[in-house]
Amino acid sequence: MPELPEVETVKQALLPVLENRRVLSAFVGRSNLRWPLPENLAKRLKNRVFTRLTRRGKYVLMHLDSDEVLLLHLGMSGSVRIHQKKPDLGRHDHFMLEMAPQLGTFGRSYVVLNDPRRFGWIDLFAESEILKHKLLAGLGPEPLGNKFSAARLEFAFKDRSVPVKNALLNQALIAGIGNIYANESLFLSGISPRRKAGTITGVRAERLATAIVTTLNAAIEDGGTSLRDHVQPGGEIGYFVQRLAVYGQAGKPCPRCSSLIKTIIQSGRSSFYCSRCQR
Ligand SMILES: [Zn+2]
Repeated sequence: MPELPEVETVKQALLPVLENRRVLSAFVGRSNLRWPLPENLAKRLKNRVFTRLTRRGKYVLMHLDSDEVLLLHLGMSGSVRIHQKKPDLGRHDHFMLEMAPQLGTFGRSYVVLNDPRRFGWIDLFAESEILKHKLLAGLGPEPLGNKFSAARLEFAFKDRSVPVKNALLNQALIAGIGNIYANESLFLSGISPRRKAGTITGVRAERLATAIVTTLNAAIEDGGTSLRDHVQPGGEIGYFVQRLAVYGQAGKPCPRCSSLIKTIIQSGRSSFYCSRCQR
């Protein structure tokens, strides 16, 4: 499931294809994904120009010259492909943008959204509604934003008795983190996934906040590298092999102390940790 770094990588890959370019046509293959798609979506996108792309949590926000925002939610299984020639669409390709050439060039570009499980979504709404949007309104602080700090993390987790691992997955407390980077951040900070969120204060909050930023930035860097080094034949972007210390490594030696990595289930999700290094 795409988390903040994968979504950021998708955003970066889409930038040259969308920014300052005009939509020649949009294809909308069905009336709903996770929720109904906006009415007249294709018609409303035609001839619009993308002015800039941003990201909030796990969502890509594509801003249009109509003062509207096209929101991309990749859900569980969504992926994006970029083509230079019009592709044949498969049954799970639900949406496509045909983009006019960049100024001074001839080549059109095609952006395709594939989503076999259809937990993803696309929305189009007025820029002025961003703060009220149902997926954006309740989001916690952006971990790579300027305002993120140990104090903000401590405040978000204050008095919470849920395990810190579960608190990290709660998008209302901190945005963009999923199971992979929650596990990795906890390992890097030396904090047990079972520790109560409310006990993450002081130096511990400093360690966790730093570990979150370090982990996410390293993954984004890997994503950028994979974009540069592996232009895949199918044009697919956004997924790459992460350098993982504990996630999925149950029974393997801890990279720090060589004890075996343990796994437990917390709220239905697997946690991986080293019981010697993480307290
Ligand atoms: Zn260890």
